[in-house]
Amino acid sequence: MFVKSVWMHWGDLGNSVEDVVKTFSRLRDHGFSKAFLFVKSRGDVIYPTKHEARFAMEGWEGGDPLEETVKVAHQMGIEVHATFVVFCEGTWKGWGVPSEPGYWLSKHMDLVQIGRFRGPPSVPSVEKLKPILRWADPAKEEVRTHEKNLILEVVENYDVDGVQLDYIRYPEEAEGCLCNHCREVFKGLYGIDPKEIEKPNHARSLWVQWRAQNITSFVEELRLEMRRISPETVLSAAVFKDYPRCLVAVGQDWPRWVDEGLVDFICPMTYEYDLKVARYLAKNHRAAVGGGATIYEGLGKRSSQSILSPEEVRAQAEAFKSEGANGITIFSNSALTDEDLVELDKV
Ligand SMILES: [Zn+2]
Repeated sequence: MFVKSVWMHWGDLGNSVEDVVKTFSRLRDHGFSKAFLFVKSRGDVIYPTKHEARFAMEGWEGGDPLEETVKVAHQMGIEVHATFVVFCEGTWKGWGVPSEPGYWLSKHMDLVQIGRFRGPPSVPSVEKLKPILRWADPAKEEVRTHEKNLILEVVENYDVDGVQLDYIRYPEEAEGCLCNHCREVFKGLYGIDPKEIEKPNHARSLWVQWRAQNITSFVEELRLEMRRISPETVLSAAVFKDYPRCLVAVGQDWPRWVDEGLVDFICPMTYEYDLKVARYLAKNHRAAVGGGATIYEGLGKRSSQSILSPEEVRAQAEAFKSEGANGITIFSNSALTDEDLVELDKV
């Protein structure tokens, strides 16, 4: 059974249960069986939390939006996976433009990551450590606790079928966190200040592995807590398409998470215009995790890196299927047209 699923933003829930019914009945009619619903974005959540996050659904009519959505989806035979933007806690404003910390991070500026920004090629020696204002530091215990608290609160209180981790990595705009805490911890382990690491040497490999371990250990701790609270709730991750580059660039070692049983499945964000490239990436993903693992290939109907016609959506879905994917996850629900759905019926 080739699974059809979709990422869903909270705008797709509209203002009421009637809107949720409309959204989910359309998916049901076209054989979709899972929705990855963004429950937490960069400091905002769609349920009343007792932790420090902002409730984003003030205008919603009738009850708790997450509880009502899960109820409707289950009536239609569709699973709901609560999707959390994890360490990214602020807004991207574009390359070279200062980002902004979100609701929670703006109150805890000591938890912001510190990045190295080099000067332009003409003066590369100009080098500054600056805060990366939209990212919380995964190496800090307070950050890890905050993120886990929000996820576990949903696992405990809602009948969700799974949790999906998004932004479960370091940012792309810097090579890891160089705050005093991270520098001290790394120095204590290896006797090297990461600020002094130049690119081509062995210490750099240690730095890459240390960063990846900070992310992997978070997934592991969460998995253990989830098994204790709700063993039947599955855990998955939305991951970068370009392994192993993403291990170096953003500290994301997702094949390891699969190997060690930390996640039940992965959704690589294989957003591409070109069919040949998309197919090649899907082949690599299968090779990275082996035949037994479950992969739902992320398909970018409309994403930061692709806008596809209904025919292209179908062609990519078929390519993913033939490369051994267990299903697709469309990005995202609001971009799906009726024509797309008709094409996908044929896959
Ligand atoms: Zn740090």
